[in-house]
Amino acid sequence: MAGRNFLFVPGPTNVPDRILRAMSVAAEDHRSPDFPRLTQACLEGLKTVFKTTVGHPILFPSSGTGCWEAALTNCLSPGEKVLIARFGQFSHLWADMCRRLGFEVEILETPWGEGAPIDRYLSALEADRQHTIKAVLVCQNETATGVASDVAAVRRAMDSIQHPALLFVDAVSALASIDFRMDEWAVDVCISGSQKGLMLPAGLGVVCVSQKALETAKRTTSRRCYFDFGDMVAANASGYFPYTPSLQMMYALRESLGMLAEEGLENVFRRHRYLAGGARAAVMQGWKLKLCAADSKWYSDTVTAVLVPPGVDAAAVITRAYTRYNLSLGAGLSKVAGKLFRIGHLGDLNELMLLGALAGSEMAMLDIGMNIEPGSGVAAAQSYWRNS
Ligand code: PLP
Repeated sequence: MAGRNFLFVPGPTNVPDRILRAMSVAAEDHRSPDFPRLTQACLEGLKTVFKTTVGHPILFPSSGTGCWEAALTNCLSPGEKVLIARFGQFSHLWADMCRRLGFEVEILETPWGEGAPIDRYLSALEADRQHTIKAVLVCQNETATGVASDVAAVRRAMDSIQHPALLFVDAVSALASIDFRMDEWAVDVCISGSQKGLMLPAGLGVVCVSQKALETAKRTTSRRCYFDFGDMVAANASGYFPYTPSLQMMYALRESLGMLAEEGLENVFRRHRYLAGGARAAVMQGWKLKLCAADSKWYSDTVTAVLVPPGVDAAAVITRAYTRYNLSLGAGLSKVAGKLFRIGHLGDLNELMLLGALAGSEMAMLDIGMNIEPGSGVAAAQSYWRNS
């Protein structure tokens, strides 16, 4: 099919040409005297993105899932307990990983479409008088449902009763698109990946670790080797890695960090909010459909999950969009399979690109016989952006 694929899944996202060019470099010796310059540029630049001065950014050659595992195996001993709210496929997978790795998991079952239930986190922590909960896990942006949660409020709940657990945040589809504050929220491990807001290919696990988490990792006894925080931080201190790093991905990351700095991180967040506003206007005012996110306080600025009416198969919209219009939309996962489709709007994106995705979604919905007004979503988004 002529023209480019319209990639509107919520990650991997579009890789800007500038980044593609930056990573098109010959191999280099990762033990050369010059190599630490690249390492330092990446790690220092990431501190700005994580909003930390005291945390340690770490790059693992993995995806976000590897970083979930790193957080757990570094900071917990076998059988120790974690607390997590489950409200979508990614919080589910993280909770499941905890169980599979042999940790005890207290799950706060939460309807899909809602975000982190702060009061229930608090009650669970209050009930834990012996402080057996060693880590509190929160998914900042549940990509499966388009729901963003209030991480600062989870930290406030923990502090209000001086619970000493570590705070782990999954910011895989939030970092560099939705505000995240490592130091201010006293996050102990923030987990992210390269293929979302950082606009890179998949392949770098991007983590930030607090001093408290590093100290804890010295005492824990879970088995780990490749994902050891201590080995990584020790080698990074002189600008090197404990094993071969992905040089091309690091050049790509340095470029991405440069682009984010040029735009300004706060402007990046504003752009994501502004674009998301247009997508939501298309869904609710234009198409008269509902979001999976049950309340405006949970609206995600990086992904919009659109519920289709009963009797309609959302998978048919996605298939039609892909096969007829070369538009990739995100599928409904697990519990919400067939019930929704997702429009990812994060990374290197502007209004006209997103209008293309909204137009394509609209055509696909009409083609499969959905009862929406032709042009209504595009018009609602245009009007939102023209008036914002
Ligand atoms: N957490 C969230 C919120 C995600 O959206 C994803 C992937 O989309 C993951 C974790 C898993 O990350 P990865 O696919 O990079 O392993």
